[in-house]
Amino acid sequence: MNYHVDEKGYYGDFGGAYIPEMLYPNVEELRTTYLEIMNEPSFKEEFNQLLKDYVGRPSPLYYAKRLSEKYKTKVYLKREDLNHTGAHKINNTIGQILVAKKLGKNRIIAETGAGQHGVATATVCALAGIQCIVYMGEIDIKRQAPNVARMKMLGAEVRAAKSGSKTLKDATNEAIRDWINNPVDTHYIIGSAIGPHPYPDMVTRFQSIISEEIKWQLKEKENRENPDYVVACIGGGSNAAGTYYHFLNAPEVGIIAVEAAGKGIHSGESAATSKLGKDGIIHGCKTLLMQSADGQITEPYSISAGLDYPGVGPMHSHLARTGRAEFFSVTDDDAMASGLELSQLEGIIPAIETSHALAIFNEKKFEPDDIVVISLSGRGDKDLNTYIDYFKL
Ligand SMILES: *Cc1c(COP(=O)(O)O)cnc(C)c1O
Repeated sequence: MNYHVDEKGYYGDFGGAYIPEMLYPNVEELRTTYLEIMNEPSFKEEFNQLLKDYVGRPSPLYYAKRLSEKYKTKVYLKREDLNHTGAHKINNTIGQILVAKKLGKNRIIAETGAGQHGVATATVCALAGIQCIVYMGEIDIKRQAPNVARMKMLGAEVRAAKSGSKTLKDATNEAIRDWINNPVDTHYIIGSAIGPHPYPDMVTRFQSIISEEIKWQLKEKENRENPDYVVACIGGGSNAAGTYYHFLNAPEVGIIAVEAAGKGIHSGESAATSKLGKDGIIHGCKTLLMQSADGQITEPYSISAGLDYPGVGPMHSHLARTGRAEFFSVTDDDAMASGLELSQLEGIIPAIETSHALAIFNEKKFEPDDIVVISLSGRGDKDLNTYIDYFKL
């Protein structure tokens, strides 16, 4: 079984590039050049240097002693929360801004929901001195004011998407429209392991630094490269794809994906794509998608803005269908409790997205000598108000 992308851009039944004719030149340029660019020694050198000196990598692999004691198993946390800008998203935006430079682009567009990817994109555009336009739903602009302020401070222009539900889906549509109108000078930085081929593979490769580091860090600490389990939360699936990448073909490593069940899988307010999704097409790829019987995309819901997406990346649909990964769906309430627990057991306040991955201990029992590595995808500063309101602290 192959878990990586094939020549045609598919992961089993999923993936591909389902795009309007007008977008073909842009996507084709990227498809025919991305691997060559990423393999150039000068590219690798600049990417690795920036990951080290600018992002602050390697991120620590931290043995969580009190959490391990509580759940009677060995838990390591991969600290992506300690990266510059507070999450894993910067790994991808650093990679893509360097690709854009190699392609001679001088204008960057991006979509953002909660604003985390917008901030990571605005950051690398400032770093590279390249114009940055971020599309964001009008409602999200109101809900995520601090991230809008960050993007402005970094010199980006934030454009409101005023159509549809005025959220992420609509911002993505606006970004695609912009790209069609500016095919020559503009690169579109997609923020997760989603979109038309080659985006899911390109984003996954940039994020694969996470599992590359886990391997040598675990070797140092435990004298073995492979843990028994890797665990990550899934929105579109970029931190998960990076965390799994170097373990996909090691069957002794269990792969665990945690998605958002919102108010309950069958409550009508969830983002539990692996349970509710059917094959469909969203934002350029075939994947599992929450939709009505006649194919209308269902509005997703999660307390966590970063997991509030009606699909998952095509790699994850393939991992779900083949059974290579175990999928769990965690409610808002369970995730919030796990976020509070990590804060008070380990002194680390996680992003609410990450709190879903931490809730795995309610769902699954591990053996005392199992090594469980959890992707701590981001820090909780952005979520403090949500936590405070929820717990009435
Ligand atoms: C955006 C985000 C996610 C979800 O995105 P993926 O592409 O699924 O990784 C998860 N955690 C944090 C902290 C995020 O900012």
